Amino acid sequence: MPNLNKLSELKKLCDKNNALLVAVSKTKSVEEILSVYNAGQKVFGENKVQEITDKYEQLPKDIEWHFIGHLQRNKVKYIAPFVDLIHGVDSLRLAKEINKQANNNQRKIRVLLQMHIAQESTKFGFDMDELTEILSAGELLTLENLEICGLMGMATFTDDAEQVDQEFSYLYNCFQKIQSRFFSNKENFKEISMGMSGDYELALKNGSTMVRVGSAIFGER
Ligand SMILES: *Cc1c(COP(=O)(O)O)cnc(C)c1O
Repeated sequence: MPNLNKLSELKKLCDKNNALLVAVSKTKSVEEILSVYNAGQKVFGENKVQEITDKYEQLPKDIEWHFIGHLQRNKVKYIAPFVDLIHGVDSLRLAKEINKQANNNQRKIRVLLQMHIAQESTKFGFDMDELTEILSAGELLTLENLEICGLMGMATFTDDAEQVDQEFSYLYNCFQKIQSRFFSNKENFKEISMGMSGDYELALKNGSTMVRVGSAIFGER
């Protein structure tokens, strides 16, 4: 069962830091999500296309659905009609496909560019050189149905708080550089999605504007 006391504690902490709480509901049932929804939470994150689509269909329509996982290009079309924010754009080809499907649905889709900040090699995302190169090339910024709202990153999965702190601080610095170089005239580029159940406090301290918290609210998966 979801921990509604924890939810309200997190909500207060996020409000205090001007950050958005994304409740990560992957693997959790529609009933569990409804209990969190009824406690006032309207933003949920999922990492599987089939699951987010099923839940979108079954749950109240004022929920904002964020896609937080690795997204395959051939599946963008299924979430394009309703997704509110895609956190993990990690290639130009994926960005172009989201732009195309957004256009097909006559809407704009909000996205974050994912940066690789962890030591683990398994996590997706651009490094700073790649991101600078891709933005300099220009095409990404011409995609009219894409609204690039900021950056997203995942820290190393470790107990070493110092390490995690450094990675979040690094992402914050990258955000500032990318913003001033490529988005200085775009007020929508303002989000830094970082922080999960184990490290949201460090993320908020380092300027996170969106934390993606699952197990602390819903319990272990
Ligand atoms: C699962 C997941 C989360 C939430 O993880 P918890 O540790 O349960 O809070 C956050 N971000 C991404 C990308 C995830 O896949």
